[in-house]
Amino acid sequence: MIELPEAAVLAKQINETVVGKRIRDVIAARTPHKLAWYFGDPHEYKSLLAGKVISGATSYGGQVEITAGKAKLLFSDGVNLRYYDKGEKLPDKHQLLLEFDSGSSLVGWVQMYGGLSAFPEGKNDNKYYLIAKKRPSPLSGDFDGNYFKSLFDENTAKLSLKAFLATEQRIPGLGNGVLQDILLSAKMHPKKKAGALSADDQQVLFDSVKNTLSDMAVKGGRDTENDLFGKPGAYKTKLSKKTAGQPCPECRTLIRKEAYLGGSIYYCVECQKI
Ligand SMILES: [Zn+2]
Repeated sequence: MIELPEAAVLAKQINETVVGKRIRDVIAARTPHKLAWYFGDPHEYKSLLAGKVISGATSYGGQVEITAGKAKLLFSDGVNLRYYDKGEKLPDKHQLLLEFDSGSSLVGWVQMYGGLSAFPEGKNDNKYYLIAKKRPSPLSGDFDGNYFKSLFDENTAKLSLKAFLATEQRIPGLGNGVLQDILLSAKMHPKKKAGALSADDQQVLFDSVKNTLSDMAVKGGRDTENDLFGKPGAYKTKLSKKTAGQPCPECRTLIRKEAYLGGSIYYCVECQKI
């Protein structure tokens, strides 16, 4: 599942590789998928997009937005997005395929669930999209210590750190995947209550959010996810399903896995205290 670092990497790679290309053909909703979401009728995407030139890409949280003329394309966090040069074998199953004049293609497909949308600029009123656009990115200067501390209030005090950081789009793009290493680096347990943090703890957590996410983005995303060319990122994920049961990189205690709040948490009982 792509999250904030991977979305930032995809946008950068699209800007380097796809910008300037003209869309020749569009195939939308070719492979039926119950949990692939579209804006409006996907069969209208071809008339919206054909002939348009890709002019840029940007990421909002875990979403990637591409501009094509006066239209926007939006891919949300459960979508695999890949670029294929002319002649490369394309996947059989996909939910959105753009073919360019040069013969290369951009293909999106959903694994578990995800959104693939095309819409005229300004027309998408999806709540998650608007929130992700409005809130500051942890990779930006606007996401500073004062902003982070403003997220701690009487409503969030009773939340666990997993719920505080990774639900309700409080920090768009910070999902259950990147959460694990953020909390290991801060030496805090996922079930620790947000209201139990001292001012110093809040600072430690803020630093870990910024540093962990920027480290992941600089290294091309996590090694558990693939980039625009199908290559895994170079950030070595410390806590994930791949490292559960293995020694903690800090203290060698075995990493625990536990179901919590609709997803697994991974933690070290020695390093991360409630
Ligand atoms: Zn440890």
